[in-house]
Amino acid sequence: MPRIIGHVISCKQASRLISQQEDFPLPGWKRLLLRLHLAACDGCTRFARQIAVLREAMARYRT
Ligand SMILES: [Zn+2]
Repeated sequence: MPRIIGHVISCKQASRLISQQEDFPLPGWKRLLLRLHLAACDGCTRFARQIAVLREAMARYRT
């Protein structure tokens, strides 16, 4: 396993995957790539957290 695996996908690709998984679940390998990127990238971790908070707010609004 290369050490640079966290940077196999760019922040742009990572944020696209983060918003994609709102609409439909990602295939396992994409989820893995995203998780590896998040482990190495604070910016995208924050973005993913914001999305999660938004999703929760939306779910509450819907009920
Ligand atoms: Zn990133």
